[in-house]
Amino acid sequence: MTTTALDDGWVPADEPPDEPPDWYDAGWYEPAPPPVDDPVVTGTAPSRGTALQVLGQVWGYPQFRGDQQRVIDTVVAGGDAVVLMPTGGGKSLCYQVPALVRPGTGVVVSPLIALMADQVAALSALGVRAGFLNSTQGPGERASTERALLAGELDLLYLAPERLTVTSTLDLLDQASIAVFAIDEAHCVSQWGHDFRPDYLRLSVLHERWPDVPRLALTATATAATRAEIVDKLHLADATVFVADFDRPNICYRIVPKDDPRGALLHLIRTEHDAQAGIVYCLTRACVEDTAAWLVAKGVQALPYHAGMDARTRAANQAQFLREDARVMVATIAFGMGIDKPDVRFVAHLDLPKSVEGYYQETGRAGRDGLPSTAWLAYGLADVVQQRRLIESGDGDEVFKRQAGRHLDAMLALCETVDCRRVQLLRYFGQESGPCGNCDTCLVPPQGWDGTVAAQKLLSTVVRLDRRGQRYGVGHLLDIVRGKRPTRVAQLGHDQLSTFGLGADLSDREWRAVVRQMLAAGLLCVETSYSTVRLTDASGQVLRGERQVWLRREPPKAPRASRAAARTEPGPAHRAAAVDLGDAAGLFEKLRTWRAGVAREQGVPAYVVLHDATLREIAASRPNDLAALSQVSGVGATKLDRYGPGVLAVVAQG
Ligand code: ADP
Ligand code: ZN
Repeated sequence: MTTTALDDGWVPADEPPDEPPDWYDAGWYEPAPPPVDDPVVTGTAPSRGTALQVLGQVWGYPQFRGDQQRVIDTVVAGGDAVVLMPTGGGKSLCYQVPALVRPGTGVVVSPLIALMADQVAALSALGVRAGFLNSTQGPGERASTERALLAGELDLLYLAPERLTVTSTLDLLDQASIAVFAIDEAHCVSQWGHDFRPDYLRLSVLHERWPDVPRLALTATATAATRAEIVDKLHLADATVFVADFDRPNICYRIVPKDDPRGALLHLIRTEHDAQAGIVYCLTRACVEDTAAWLVAKGVQALPYHAGMDARTRAANQAQFLREDARVMVATIAFGMGIDKPDVRFVAHLDLPKSVEGYYQETGRAGRDGLPSTAWLAYGLADVVQQRRLIESGDGDEVFKRQAGRHLDAMLALCETVDCRRVQLLRYFGQESGPCGNCDTCLVPPQGWDGTVAAQKLLSTVVRLDRRGQRYGVGHLLDIVRGKRPTRVAQLGHDQLSTFGLGADLSDREWRAVVRQMLAAGLLCVETSYSTVRLTDASGQVLRGERQVWLRREPPKAPRASRAAARTEPGPAHRAAAVDLGDAAGLFEKLRTWRAGVAREQGVPAYVVLHDATLREIAASRPNDLAALSQVSGVGATKLDRYGPGVLAVVAQG
């Protein structure tokens, strides 16, 4: 494969980027669980009170958010529900609370075997009796979970879909009392999405076998098409559908031109997210490994993650990211679904995501705790070419390719917009809003300029070459338009073209932005096999002067990353964190250190002990007894018992 067409640092993909998501090799076709031959006592997990009481006692939260209350009321009353809520919106409580309020065990279907242990640990820390059944367990552990289920000693049970649909599991559940079925990540039922799991299609069995048990399907994927597919495939026609506000106001969206993307990423980390947790998404495995190694060499605690790594290293890296502070995970999209780490402060994309939906899911992993966070994307000409080529040369049929093309067009429109990014994002999900004040286009409005003449210069060069039966890549075209005379241009006689040198008024960088925007707008097209450029129907309109080309001016180049910069110019997220806490910042850090010790001792992620948001509130309010501590949001009865004395000791010293 050659890269002659482009010379701005594009490296061709080393493998098809459509890597199977990581649960493909997580061993989900498991043998059926062994028969339970111990005598069983059938019981029922008792109710712990009303929904609001449970929320206060168990989670220590004073009130429900958004649609939570209405969803919970529906399910507690025995109705089915479909819940579409953005990442971080609070979906888990929608099924966890009903599982505690209704008699019996809540059964949660989740594709995320690797995360079940942490989910159960987080619930145990709240005093909730939770368990899971999956292939990572030995027969003894599995049998004891099954016994607990049958004895009515479990509030929540997590299962992978492939396990749920085997006969022995269905028989097991027949003997238990079930409060609710929750189908998490319900978009996995969609054959269009990259998270498709065939076993999800078999979940309609739940309705047939247990018609009286309420079902709840949840997802952060928001388009109407996915929603319709969930309702259809899971037989949820009678369910109440809840569509939450999809805005994530604490996330600042920024899309920058791809000049020295790694350097710009490092600058972002050093100036705004120093010693904070983040995720960096790359398209290919090679890019993941190179970028992680490069960041480590620059002193950032980065870890790689992709589906090609051996399972053990991958699991170890994921655990480290979840358990320790300030780790940066460099990953393909194989990483991230179900990651509920609340304090991920930034999500960076070094390559263009394939769709707005994917972009929103990935960026949504930042700032679940509601504190200021950054979504940063570096996007360049080569991305457009590469993505168009991947679509054209992929195996999908025409319908699939057209759909993929539309997804890409929407993503490009988001990148090139001169309007508020959030307005565009939310509109994509069918939600109207006004300028947000927390995205790059709102903060530094881009200038537009009339690029019609520039576009005509480029297009007429393409026309002239076309007449000679020749097609070239962007690099060569720009040499001609800018009047450069490298050997190839002279040899081919292209310095004799009438358009030679007509565009010397713009720099190479400016020209690349012009071409990128023309490609995004369909005014030019890239030939898939050779990366050469050709005209489209719309090109003619521009050439004939029937269509104006309004372009976005490139912002100035980002400064190079430097250590000094980190001290002199704190960015928005950094500033917000520092301002909020004021005098309490020292105590907050002491509490974090205490928490790290407790988490290590108990072998759980730090946020399972107490969230950052809770520690901040403690640092600010300095409770001096257990009663005062219990008023802090996020301190429920069990955590008060377990951690109260430790926290009070730190506060007293601080
Ligand atoms: P989702 O699964 O939708 O991505 P989670 O269920 O993980 O979101 O919730 C996101 C965060 O918000 C969690 O840290 C959770 O503890 C917190 N949260 C959810 N509901 C509430 C609430 N009613 N009050 C306070 N915090 C909440
Ligand atoms: Zn905005």
